Amino acid sequence: MKSTFAECFQCKTLNKINPEKAQTSKPVCGKCSAEIPMHGLVADVGTENFHKVLRNHDGPVVVDFWASWCGPCKMYGPEFQKASVQNTDVVFLKINTETEQQLSAQLGIRGIPCTILFQNTKEIKRQSGAMSAEQVNSFINSR
Ligand SMILES: [Zn+2]
Repeated sequence: MKSTFAECFQCKTLNKINPEKAQTSKPVCGKCSAEIPMHGLVADVGTENFHKVLRNHDGPVVVDFWASWCGPCKMYGPEFQKASVQNTDVVFLKINTETEQQLSAQLGIRGIPCTILFQNTKEIKRQSGAMSAEQVNSFINSR
């Protein structure tokens, strides 16, 4: 069965989510019962849960590295979100480079938005700059 992940903003627990269900109703945290805000099927995660997802998910994981001050990131967000609903076999994550500075430095992220595709904990490829949903689709699917 297809699944995706979401971090609870309240207790930071990583929840496994059914993507079909998540599109019709807000997922609820299995630990503290807080509602988890999803943007399409994009989940905001911190560094710890980012590593957890990479370890626990066999399939492709695509990550948007962004920051709140970044104009192109704001334009890119909805496109990334649109692509997430069109690719339910891929896990979509968003990582705030302001709060997760160490991870961003480790991955050598300079320009944002930066989109990186991972599989089996390894980076497959990356793309700097905002993309349209169609471009995200081909970024993911031409591998
Ligand atoms: Zn929770």
